Amino acid sequence: MHDHRANQKDAYALILEAIDSHIYKPGDRLVESELAERFGVSRTPIREALQRLETQSLLTRDGRSLIVASLDHSQLSELYVVRGELEGLAARLAARHATPEEIKVLRDMLEDDKGLVGNPDALSRANRRFHKQIHLASHNRFLVQQLDLVHRSMALLATTSIAAEGRGDQTLKEHAAIVAAIEAGDGEAADQALRDHISKAFITRLKLDAQAVEAAE
Ligand SMILES: [Zn+2]
Repeated sequence: MHDHRANQKDAYALILEAIDSHIYKPGDRLVESELAERFGVSRTPIREALQRLETQSLLTRDGRSLIVASLDHSQLSELYVVRGELEGLAARLAARHATPEEIKVLRDMLEDDKGLVGNPDALSRANRRFHKQIHLASHNRFLVQQLDLVHRSMALLATTSIAAEGRGDQTLKEHAAIVAAIEAGDGEAADQALRDHISKAFITRLKLDAQAVEAAE
């Protein structure tokens, strides 16, 4: 038997990861027994994890069922505003506080991620790692926590904007500009470069959503 507390944490992390990697998409129904079977975890920790995810608004009720929540247009805009501000702040602080080793990791990521253009899923994961690395390089734990919250809500977006035509290449160019500013210790430029990056990602997402509406009509 597993320790219950470890189990609960595992169940939560497993379900969150499944939402994040779009195994479960917004609107999908989550059934306790199916999750227990899929993850090989008993039902109690699954139930506790589902409650926690519901409290965090990642799951919502549809009658008696729990479904993966989705973001409406206003929530999407609100999320991107907060994301731009917080990510910009992280870049600004990283320009001040990043160690040479942390900058080296960012540089290596830029290099490695070039091989992922054309593979949107892998590039999307690499993008998350890249941003997480900047968050950590800010050396501000409260900011890292807030950004974790923002990124958890990003899991509720059904598609990645990186999948859009030409966006992969562009993403990496924008990342390079961010790293250059952090490396130069220019907080102002790093902040601006990251805000620009988030703004362009948001524009891409709005265009994708517009196309999806058109396709559905
Ligand atoms: Zn990015």
